[in-house]
Amino acid sequence: MKNKNVNRRDFIRLSATAGAGALLVPNTAAATATATVQSANRETAFEIPVRTLGKTGLQIPILSMGVMRADNPNIVRAAYSSGITHFDTAHGYQNGKNEEMLGNFFKDKPRDSFTIATKGKLDYPLKDTFEKDYTELLELSLKRLQMDFVEIFYTHALERVEEVTDKRIVDLLLKFKADGKIKNIGLSTHANKPELIDAAIETGIYDVILVSYNFKLNNLKEMEEAIDRGVKAGIGFVAMKTMTGGAEDAEGKNRINGKACLKWAWKNENITMAIPGFTNFDLLDDCMAAAKSPQLTAEDKEYLAMLCGKELLYCQQCGKCTDECAEHLPIPDLMRAYMYAYGYKNASLSKETLQSLTLADDACKKCEKCKVSCISGFNVSEKIAAITPVRNIPDVFLT
Ligand code: SF4
Ligand code: SF4
Repeated sequence: MKNKNVNRRDFIRLSATAGAGALLVPNTAAATATATVQSANRETAFEIPVRTLGKTGLQIPILSMGVMRADNPNIVRAAYSSGITHFDTAHGYQNGKNEEMLGNFFKDKPRDSFTIATKGKLDYPLKDTFEKDYTELLELSLKRLQMDFVEIFYTHALERVEEVTDKRIVDLLLKFKADGKIKNIGLSTHANKPELIDAAIETGIYDVILVSYNFKLNNLKEMEEAIDRGVKAGIGFVAMKTMTGGAEDAEGKNRINGKACLKWAWKNENITMAIPGFTNFDLLDDCMAAAKSPQLTAEDKEYLAMLCGKELLYCQQCGKCTDECAEHLPIPDLMRAYMYAYGYKNASLSKETLQSLTLADDACKKCEKCKVSCISGFNVSEKIAAITPVRNIPDVFLT
């Protein structure tokens, strides 16, 4: 089924807004397009372009590591040895083991040779105990990471403007920063991104925003305009979900050309870095190859334009389906769980996501005909039927 919202003509038009000449950085750091990270124990020369992360002043290679799905410290070691300096995790990833792995890996590395971002989920509306609970969450993350501070702390996966502007959240984030536990305040979001970016600008406390950003976004123009406003206000932008689910088809049969996807994201000079979640050495090699030669080729453009007309695995998280659904099922989350299983081949993450949802086994059976018309062309009831059984697979059989 075709995605009617991002067609080939739109893609080519949007590609032209930041031509190959604009690929590298919008600042002096970029002008060199190479960097050397030096420290007492580490001197790594690499040829990855470097960009400055907004008003944080951090200079970071355009390729960073999304550690979320990696459970092998040797992949982290290979990334670090290859010149990657920024590592992105979250309090909840792998039930805390992800942060622990990074803590064990970095405990004997010079603190100025890498930067860390972690994230903490909020329960919104806030409980009376929010300040205490969220402080304990951050302190546990720092303990697992074996660090006194993180360079970026994101409030995790926000969807509502109130989660950005709520005074209790703002005051606590400012306190974390004043106490030196976090160097920069961030937020991450998959949904309602332009609205949340504008709210962050208005609030004035946010240094970094982590957003899903890829060539399949249905509201690409609106997103790029919002990002531009954010950059003008000094906010640094980090791109996730750049590979649209990891497959070039709706069934997850063929791996997507990740190099082309990354190069497309870097084409926007307002994006400081991307955080692809590579989990093996081959994928790391692919990402490194893209970072060392980041210009989109004619072949890359042709390939991505072809994908614009196809249904892939990426859900826009627009939420339109939730209102249409007779049972008000959490369809965006279910589609994410589907993408984890079929695109990322990570059934454990899929099961973890499904278990966080309230969902009856026979949710769709009450409907004679599905009422949802997905903007990405997904047959959501079919996907729900395919993914919900993953909840019942014993962990021992999961990858
Ligand atoms: S399933 Fe479709 S309609 Fe629902 S959030 Fe995803 S893209 Fe939007
Ligand atoms: S079939 Fe499922 S997804 Fe479709 S409207 Fe019914 S409950 Fe919602």
